[in-house]
Amino acid sequence: MAKKRHDELGKLRAEIRNITLDIITKAHKRMKLSEQIGAIKGNLRIEIEDENVEQEVRRSVIELSHTLGIDPAFSGRLLNMLLMESIRLQQIQHKKIGNDHLIPTHLSVFMKAKELESSGKKIIHMEVGEPDYPPPKKIRKSLIESFNKKQYHYTDSKGLLKLRQAIAKKVGHGIEHDEVIVTSGGRFAIFSAILSILRPGEEVISIEPSWPAYREFVDFAGGKIKTLGTTIENNWTPDTGQLEEMIGHHTKIIVLNYPNNPTGKILDKKDITRIVSLAQDNGLYVISDEVYSDYAFKGFTSLTHYEYDRSIVVSSFSKSCAMTGFRVGYGIADREVISKMARIQAIALTSVAEPMQYAALSAIDYSPAGNVKLIKERLDLISEKLSNMSLDFISPDGAMYVFPRLKGLIQNDAALVGKLLDLGVAVAPGSGFGQDYTRFIRISACQPKKMLERGLEVINSVLFIH
Ligand code: PMP
Repeated sequence: MAKKRHDELGKLRAEIRNITLDIITKAHKRMKLSEQIGAIKGNLRIEIEDENVEQEVRRSVIELSHTLGIDPAFSGRLLNMLLMESIRLQQIQHKKIGNDHLIPTHLSVFMKAKELESSGKKIIHMEVGEPDYPPPKKIRKSLIESFNKKQYHYTDSKGLLKLRQAIAKKVGHGIEHDEVIVTSGGRFAIFSAILSILRPGEEVISIEPSWPAYREFVDFAGGKIKTLGTTIENNWTPDTGQLEEMIGHHTKIIVLNYPNNPTGKILDKKDITRIVSLAQDNGLYVISDEVYSDYAFKGFTSLTHYEYDRSIVVSSFSKSCAMTGFRVGYGIADREVISKMARIQAIALTSVAEPMQYAALSAIDYSPAGNVKLIKERLDLISEKLSNMSLDFISPDGAMYVFPRLKGLIQNDAALVGKLLDLGVAVAPGSGFGQDYTRFIRISACQPKKMLERGLEVINSVLFIH
């Protein structure tokens, strides 16, 4: 009897192995077809991604899943993995044909500007979102104290208990210290949250224009980013009806970032309420990146206000306290997600450096009012100059940037950014924030007024005087 069972097990295992090999062989055939399609698209100069074609395949897969009686969420994830591989292969083909150009981002412009500076050129940096003013005075004392008190060891991977307690108290809404993780910058909080929640093939909805890192995080996690575009005509307000339509079987997360980088938009409370209710109805997580929340020039409602159990709220000491290089940020979420994020942080970097956590603790009740006033004045100055140039833009409600649309002779960001760099001015190209924004640039207010004035004069001269 036992032998018969063993024989049967062996047979079934062989069958499973053969089927797996069949699937891989079919996947290989699919990849070859993708390459051919990529080459044709390259020749015809058409976009690689085609939402309609993708939807058609998706519909057929869902239909088949229902017929076979398998979970459409599973087949959808599998489909997403195949689609992502297709896109990757098609992109390689595009490159061979020579249609691919590297999308410039604020970081690539920054690198290029640094290179030019090292060869002696003077550059006005209007591309970076890094405060040019110093951190709070207390920080110096805190760092010296940390050294004297031998506070330079590994800590709990969630962060120092004292700091987590202080953050929980500051945030309020009944948040407890075990719903807080101290991370290496807000960046690592978002990255570890996405890695904790997302399974390969699942989808994340992000609202564009957006900080480019969200896409990179999702790609890294093997997920698929779906973007909801917003327009200057609509005051950068996302269409929540469209958002609802985008939510599908394998949607897992919605990412919000208000005050927004690059537009400076703050979403009205009614829109956030609608988005939270959509998330609730569909069991989605909402990651709210609130690193610019101190730089709000009108009412801003944090996601913590909703006490939604699937929310992850991210903030940071980088912008509020001008502590970018200290690399201290934090995430607030339910205990289970916090534990998963802590595990990723433990694997990647053990913990945030202890002296930096004490420095953050000493800055916890720092009032950024002076910095906020300074940034607001600079943004007003930039807005005034851009209005004089008759450029279209929405006056920022917060953050540190203005995102104008180009006009005049040069209407393409890459061309303008290159020309401006030659003339010693660095700005961030719009295409780094989404492919539909090639006619925009982002101007950062992280420079003294005099420099901003000079930079804006150069921009004016390049756009309009030829
Ligand atoms: N979110 C947004 C929208 C940002 O612009 C940045 C930094 N530029 C971050 C998060 C990350 O900031 P940090 O890691 O320094 O806290």
